[in-house]
Amino acid sequence: MFTRVIKYSNKYFDLFDLIGNIGDGRQKPQISTSDIAASILSILFCGLGSLNKFNTSKNFSSVGNLTGRVPSSSTIARASNTVDLDALREILKSIYLKAKRSKMIEPYCTKYIGVIDGHEICSSDIHWCESCSIRNVSKVEGEVKLNYYHRYVAFILAGPKFAFLLDVEPIYPDEGELSSAYRLLLRVCANYPKAFEVVVGDGLYLNANIFNLLACHGKYAAAVLKDETRQLYDEAVLLSGIAKPVVYVDENTIYKVWDHSIEGAWDSYKKPVRVIRSEEIKKSRHHSKDLGKWEYVEEKADWYWVTNLPPVVSLKNVVSICHSRWQIENGCFNEAVNTWNADHVYRHSQNAIVAFILFLFIVLNIFNIFFTRNIKDKRISIKSFLLELVKAEFILAKWMHPIPL
Ligand SMILES: [Zn+2]
Repeated sequence: MFTRVIKYSNKYFDLFDLIGNIGDGRQKPQISTSDIAASILSILFCGLGSLNKFNTSKNFSSVGNLTGRVPSSSTIARASNTVDLDALREILKSIYLKAKRSKMIEPYCTKYIGVIDGHEICSSDIHWCESCSIRNVSKVEGEVKLNYYHRYVAFILAGPKFAFLLDVEPIYPDEGELSSAYRLLLRVCANYPKAFEVVVGDGLYLNANIFNLLACHGKYAAAVLKDETRQLYDEAVLLSGIAKPVVYVDENTIYKVWDHSIEGAWDSYKKPVRVIRSEEIKKSRHHSKDLGKWEYVEEKADWYWVTNLPPVVSLKNVVSICHSRWQIENGCFNEAVNTWNADHVYRHSQNAIVAFILFLFIVLNIFNIFFTRNIKDKRISIKSFLLELVKAEFILAKWMHPIPL
């Protein structure tokens, strides 16, 4: 299965040609950046989880490193300190364009939706680098216990079958998530002008600068309204007390939704916005303590969102678009950590951390498309099982090239 996924990457996305364009800042390197990139992609495609396991697995090979092009883990780590991040972003873009042209990327709820959010990685009390953010985590007053961490903002496209991961931007020490998000949005608007029509974010993104930036690029915005002190929130609560909601059932959830156009209640944003309130009751069943019986549980939620999506977008679709924000939690951050070991720090430096996330985005995008479109065997019904099959072949492979083909 490893060979199959690598060949698929080449056939549809020219992946191992594209990595020829990557460079790094090493002086007189003995192993080229593209051979290092090939190794990193191999490590990530099979979820190996660490550079040391890579060293061990290539030593298992009965053929060995004949070409002298397989890097050691320390060479990979050193090169990742200075690897060209923009070249990796170009590869992501090329994969996106090929996938879009081949109709592998589909709209979700009639729209192409971008989702943005911040995420924290490699929190540690011991390991740090000069680019770490630092906080005091001591619960004792007057005592200092430092904790080091990195954060980044990610941008993805929500989809009906999988999320497509587009780009990341680090949040530098002493700056807020929105500053980083602003840079990221500027870049994705420039690099992917037609990839998305609306951007969804959490409560932090209910920010006039963000709404205006997106409007300048012809994009709509939607964000969670959760700050109870806001005038908009009070207005929405008031109006939903007077007006009748639209009620509908979708799958096992009953929705009661209010949709108001409000103008002049958001100081820093002058145009009218739609304020959506959605009261949701989801029924689910669980195994009861009594053997063979079911227990039915009701989960209630009350969501508020603000968006400048025009009235032509139906209420039901607006609610689904706003909920698609969860795809960045589930399809990006959680899956990357739980299935792909993304919380492992392959190399602790600012550049290497971003580089490994971008490499992982390349791998996850291809893997998700491969899984959705090419796996017909019904026994391979979940991605983690497919990943085990890829890993098994990788470990047993014979090494003739920088990647074991
Ligand atoms: Zn650090």
